[in-house]
Amino acid sequence: MGTADLHIHSIYSPDATTTVRAILKQAADVHLDVIAITDHDEIRGSLEAQQLAPKYGVEVVTGAEVSTSDGHLVALYIKTLPPAGMSMIDTLIHIGKQGGIAVAPHPFNGLPNSLSMEAVLGALTNPFAKGPLKGIETHNMGTQNFDRIAQKLAVFLPFAKIASSDAHIYWAVGAGRTEFPGRTAQDLRNALENNTTVPIPYEGESSAIAVLSWMRRITMRKFGFASDASSRNSPINTKQLSDSMIQKVQKRGRKKQGSR
Ligand SMILES: [Zn+2]
Ligand SMILES: [Zn+2]
Repeated sequence: MGTADLHIHSIYSPDATTTVRAILKQAADVHLDVIAITDHDEIRGSLEAQQLAPKYGVEVVTGAEVSTSDGHLVALYIKTLPPAGMSMIDTLIHIGKQGGIAVAPHPFNGLPNSLSMEAVLGALTNPFAKGPLKGIETHNMGTQNFDRIAQKLAVFLPFAKIASSDAHIYWAVGAGRTEFPGRTAQDLRNALENNTTVPIPYEGESSAIAVLSWMRRITMRKFGFASDASSRNSPINTKQLSDSMIQKVQKRGRKKQGSR
């Protein structure tokens, strides 16, 4: 079986604190086979990760967490970024047209930015939108206290079950992982299509520790610091980012932002 974490945020998300290369190093250190960097309405982090990935022995699936008007939707195996603000159905159609697939992240919990049951069932009954919707997060490390409804309803839904970290800090990468038959990104895609994934929830310390860790790191980020590692073999440390790096990760034409 291979292991994947399909919901990770890099510093291309304004609310995250880890460089792409530090995410790759951490993913390799915790023995993930496949990852997706899914920044808020941003694909550049995942494209950068895909280029760097061979040096780390990890495979990268392109992705983004798209802010639809119905809530967040994780797009995977995409080539271009779906625009923010469309309905869930229109976003799914956009993803499907470019050969991508989608996962409903942290759904049914009533939190802002989470898809409702109505939205997901609406997509399922739309012949053009249902095809690309392949997965549902039954476990999200960031919302683990609110995931029970998703876990109960997932039994009745025709989706692959996913556990993700939704990491906004480096050490959370892999805290929530999905097992699949095989090892490669293509094997993972087959498992998502065929509903053969196995969610492995996070069972470490409570997510309150992650929240405190995130608060400390996001404050540091405001001063230009992030978790970084210069190579596969160097440690991850809090480092001051260069001006060019800060400019690079800045949002172009910033629109509505979400979190989680
Ligand atoms: Zn989210
Ligand atoms: Zn997220």
